[in-house]
Amino acid sequence: MSYEKADVVIAGGGFAGVALALALRQGLGDSFRVVVADPAFAADARPDLRASAIAAAARRMFETLDVWDAVADEAQPILDMVVTDSKLEHAVRPVFLTFAGEVEPGQPFAHMIENAPLTAALVAKARAQGIELRAMAVTGFANEASGISVSLGEDGVSASLLVAADGAKSRVREQADIAIHGWNYGQSAIVTTVAHERAHNGRAEEHFLPAGPFAILPLKGNRSSLVWTETDAEAARIVALPDDQFHGELERRFGLHLGEIAASGPRRAYPLGLFIARAFVADRIALVGDAAHVIHPIAGQGLNMGLRDVAALAEAIVDAARLGLDVGGVDVLERYQRWRRFDTAVMGVATDGLNRLFSNESDVLRLMRDVGLGLVDRMPALKSFFIREAAGVTGEVPKLLRGEAL
Ligand SMILES: Cc1cc2nc3c(=O)[nH]c(=O)nc-3n(C[C@H](O)[C@H](O)[C@H](O)COP(=O)(O)OP(=O)(O)OC[C@H]3O[C@@H](n4cnc5c(N)ncnc54)[C@H](O)[C@@H]3O)c2cc1C
Repeated sequence: MSYEKADVVIAGGGFAGVALALALRQGLGDSFRVVVADPAFAADARPDLRASAIAAAARRMFETLDVWDAVADEAQPILDMVVTDSKLEHAVRPVFLTFAGEVEPGQPFAHMIENAPLTAALVAKARAQGIELRAMAVTGFANEASGISVSLGEDGVSASLLVAADGAKSRVREQADIAIHGWNYGQSAIVTTVAHERAHNGRAEEHFLPAGPFAILPLKGNRSSLVWTETDAEAARIVALPDDQFHGELERRFGLHLGEIAASGPRRAYPLGLFIARAFVADRIALVGDAAHVIHPIAGQGLNMGLRDVAALAEAIVDAARLGLDVGGVDVLERYQRWRRFDTAVMGVATDGLNRLFSNESDVLRLMRDVGLGLVDRMPALKSFFIREAAGVTGEVPKLLRGEAL
């Protein structure tokens, strides 16, 4: 096989892979050759029904990469948030915690946007910039003395660095023999979009029900995205119900505070787990996004963490390239790993703890957590800290997430 030359090959053209390609193009121009490979570029893969809470820092990054304008009209700012903690049969769900939604005046801590238009906008921007998007899977790689040769089916590309942005079941991570630590929760998230009669006014709701969190997240118009946690078996049963019975199950949990509701479009159950890669780097390889970590969607942070990886790795690569250093060298990889691994472990532990605390039937535990939520609700400084954490503006924030170009 003959190998073409590139600087970086990115396996996976989801949010993480394409955002990284755009960041490298912005920082290093078109003489720095980046190839993104993903079979999903060819066919219309199964549509992604999910919507994501894009934290303020991630929005700044999309603005800096000149992608946000294309989706701004479809992004719904989260203006406030309420948290309740009840049993399913409780008619009234007392609100234990409320958050106003601004991280700074006029700056919502997050926007909700459907994954499909955001992915389309990223890919369109990459195409417009002439970034090479190959509709192929990365099928293997081999380390060489001063580079890495990557197989894309029949083709081969030889590069300084291979980035694994190929999702939770990353083949690159597996072939690099990087173990993952973690567990399945035995829970799945049912995802669907719900149309409702009354306006949500930008309010996000997190209802902690015994089976797990039931989140109603505002989309543009009188629509909300649902992330509804159940055990795996119950989720599979509910998703397969005929529409009228599905509606009955939905209404029991959703309530009628937004008027009449109707699930619109398909529904799907996503199995949930916590998985963190033992290392985020190997010889000439860096993992980003879900290839490096998968967390519970309870705090809507999975993708935001992936974008933080991308911003940190892009900054490390751009700094090295400008100094004429090897972008796949140990210094770049170690800088990236130091930057991201600890932060990821902290978020993994936090979301795991939250899920365990709230996904159970114990009355004693409910009393304790409700006292805790009530206390937080009375402490503006602590609430402001949580909002800043959720907005992704704490810690050592990479430039792109601060809204600075590379
Ligand atoms: C129910 C649910 C709700 C969520 N809500 C939120 C939220 O509100 N906010 C948030 O921040 N996060 C959220 N997340 C997490 C978020 O969706 C993921 O973290 C994010 O989609 C991961 O993006 P990625 O680019 O890393 O991986 P993916 O989107 O999985 O992309 C991986 C890509 O790699 C490609 N690929 C696979 N194998 C190969 C190969 N061998 N070669 C080349 N390409 C390959 C695939 O085709 C795919 O396109 C949620 C997750 C779930 C399950």
